[in-house]
Amino acid sequence: MPTPLIAGNWKMNGSRQLVDEFGRAFRDAALPDGVSVALMVPFPYLEAAARAFEGGPLALGAQTLSDRPSGAFTGEVGGEMLRDCGVRMVLVGHSERRTLFGEDDAAVLARVRAALGVGLTPVLCLGESLEERDAGRTEAVVLGQLEAVLDGLDAAQRAALVIAYEPVWAIGTGRTATPDQAQAVHGAIRARLTRYDAELAAAMQVLYGGSMKADNAAELLAQPDIDGGLVGGASLKIDDFLAICQSAG
Ligand code: PEP
Repeated sequence: MPTPLIAGNWKMNGSRQLVDEFGRAFRDAALPDGVSVALMVPFPYLEAAARAFEGGPLALGAQTLSDRPSGAFTGEVGGEMLRDCGVRMVLVGHSERRTLFGEDDAAVLARVRAALGVGLTPVLCLGESLEERDAGRTEAVVLGQLEAVLDGLDAAQRAALVIAYEPVWAIGTGRTATPDQAQAVHGAIRARLTRYDAELAAAMQVLYGGSMKADNAAELLAQPDIDGGLVGGASLKIDDFLAICQSAG
């Protein structure tokens, strides 16, 4: 069974002070054995977070990266730079990047490859809109996004991914997928991974994201194909994020 991972996504929120407070709180926290935790902080705080998280359980993550290695791409941040700052994992294809910044499946694949090329773990985000769910297209959309990336990778690259299923209608809305709704999609993702390789399917961490909170995390994380959480709003509050991490044990 994959080991649980709880990853926080601060989006465009937080401060240097909050980075330091999280570093201190998590260094002193008793987390359940075998649970990994990561925080995806905004670019300007990466170096401060690398220092603040040192010696503690929090792995450092970023929220996106350029598909180019370096060069004349004003405003972009490359994977090598992220690694240089101590980053270990990076979100790719978050629904806000897909919908607000026009990242399509090809752009997502290019960023996954860029991350893998420098040894970063891509956390590949997948999810359907409410309209797509209501039209009965959830599996087609989610598995389509999944295959668009898996088909462009070799076996070793596929094995280095983490997947996050995040129904778009549940992100930042307070409306969580029920444990059954989430499990149904996670089960479909796992089944589709089996078509590539049974070992890959068994080992892949598939996280759930979408209004995961301290009071609903345990029942979501208890589902057989949910291996952890990608947490937005609740990852900005130390007590809430800690409580979610505790529920993963
Ligand atoms: C997210 O941004 O990935 C997310 C799941 O946000 P929230 O937990 O706030 O819904």
